[in-house]
Amino acid sequence: MSRPSRPETAPCAARLAPHRRHAAGCGCFIIPTRVLDRFAQDEQLPEAQRKSFADAASIETEWRKVRSASQQLMRMAHSVLPTGMTALAAAAPPVVSVFDCRHGMALPGTPFCDPAHATDETARRTFAETTAMAEFLRLAFNRNSLDDAGMGLLSSIHFSVGYNNAFWNGLQMTYGDGDGNIFIDFTRSNDVIAHELTHGLTEYTAGFAYRNQAGGLNESVSDVFGSMFRQWRAGQSVQQADWLIGRDIMGPGALARGYTCLRDLANPGAEHCLSPQPAHFDQYRNGMDPHDSSGIPNQAFYRAAMAIGGHSWEKTGRIWYHALTGYRPSPNLSMRSFANRTRSLARQIFGSEPSIRRAVDQAWLAVGL
Ligand SMILES: [Zn+2]
Repeated sequence: MSRPSRPETAPCAARLAPHRRHAAGCGCFIIPTRVLDRFAQDEQLPEAQRKSFADAASIETEWRKVRSASQQLMRMAHSVLPTGMTALAAAAPPVVSVFDCRHGMALPGTPFCDPAHATDETARRTFAETTAMAEFLRLAFNRNSLDDAGMGLLSSIHFSVGYNNAFWNGLQMTYGDGDGNIFIDFTRSNDVIAHELTHGLTEYTAGFAYRNQAGGLNESVSDVFGSMFRQWRAGQSVQQADWLIGRDIMGPGALARGYTCLRDLANPGAEHCLSPQPAHFDQYRNGMDPHDSSGIPNQAFYRAAMAIGGHSWEKTGRIWYHALTGYRPSPNLSMRSFANRTRSLARQIFGSEPSIRRAVDQAWLAVGL
């Protein structure tokens, strides 16, 4: 498989070529259906806003139907790739492109010829943060894009009207503008952008299924890498970070109700979370929404990072990255197995620093794993 060259002066439409089309439809959303349903039934909201939440929930239901089938396709495609293929891939950075849905629902929409300098602020922000996420993967983890072979990163903005979600569908990222009351433009939180892109990274590596314990791990690594990316962009240490997910997409209506974020890695069950989560494995049940069970490994990462200190991505993040990417695809991995991966990686990578191994071990023990 050869990688198309980058068209520097090609007309706009020709810039579609570098994006690999490989499989369709994972459908990993940032806002859980339960939260959408809650607002769809909230009598304090105007009818039009309740309808926009109901519409967003119904889109998620449709995606869920194709999710597991598409993941099987992805695993099959990976199993037939010749070994060493990624080593042959070009080292060029990924092409980042942004498309405008113009409030329709057809994907990807119309391309911005030059998203870095577009008059549309959402387009500029999406381009800048997506490009920065590719740079983060390269600098922090020596990885070339989601597939480690420089795959292009495609984003669609202004999806539907007042759409209250963002998702990765196996091919691309898609962002709604929010209803303007509970949520605002979903590209405003760069951890939301990195969360969605990390679903692509997971698909190319561990391939966690989106159900039961693996589903919780899938959601958790997206939150963990989303939070690390936000900290990296702000140059924050673990002490300076606020560890919130989605703080910058909370609209005035959500803030007025006391919600300051979607989730909080430091305190998953906090009342200021729009979507509070369990933080201990004794609260885990099969069939839980992955957005809920992810609170358990989220809390373990937070505890390990705080004990290890410094920048989250340098030591703790390195262990988590290798636990995600350094093993054969493991669609049904248990949380305990993932925890044990990080324990042995802490020993292997930081053998001369036993305090790191102890920090990782203690973090998982504290959440019951
Ligand atoms: Zn997600």
